Amino acid sequence: MAVKVLTIKEDILVANDVRANENNALLEKKNILMINIMSSPGAGKTTLLLKTINNMKDKTRIGIIEGDVASSVDADKINEQSIPVVQINTAGGCHLDANQVNQGLMNLPLDNIDLLFIENVGNLICTAEFNLGEQKKVMILSLPEGHDKPYKYPIMFTEVDVVLVSKTDLAPLLDFDMEEFVSAVKGLNEKTEIFAISAKTGEGMEAWYSWLTKQLESRRIS
Ligand code: MG
Ligand code: ZN
Repeated sequence: MAVKVLTIKEDILVANDVRANENNALLEKKNILMINIMSSPGAGKTTLLLKTINNMKDKTRIGIIEGDVASSVDADKINEQSIPVVQINTAGGCHLDANQVNQGLMNLPLDNIDLLFIENVGNLICTAEFNLGEQKKVMILSLPEGHDKPYKYPIMFTEVDVVLVSKTDLAPLLDFDMEEFVSAVKGLNEKTEIFAISAKTGEGMEAWYSWLTKQLESRRIS
């Protein structure tokens, strides 16, 4: 079945936070954990999602909202995994807003989803400033982007619950200073958890899956 593609321009008439709260209430009612994944273009959001789906889909019902300026290239890859997915095209917009995500939620089988990922538009600047109603924010920083990014994009690093440092298999080729990176991130937000991962070799992926499992379990208990 072809992926459903919704083209939605940012709606500046409805206050973003009002809609985000509505989204969050809907998710709580349906007992869904929604995680907003953000990064620069090419940091590995789609690859991470494909690996995560592969690892967890037998025990967790996963759904995806894909955000892109145009195309359904990423959503098509997800669709091949037989996971519910909806593509939002922002018609030029550089981030997803809560109204667009609300439309995404309305086009997904929410009663059959426990864990819902949003793949946000590739952009480190304004994506973090828009609450979508998600319970957790995660960002991916790929090694080639450099360890100085927390200084340049502080809002992103301050907002997120988890930073995934991706493409660690490239470490021998690069001068990425992990110690400096970690101290810069912690300087902005002491509580941020940092995992170094390589979707290619599988290094560090278990820590990411355990974190996800822990989030799902703590919801079941509460
Ligand atoms: Mg992608
Ligand atoms: Zn934007």
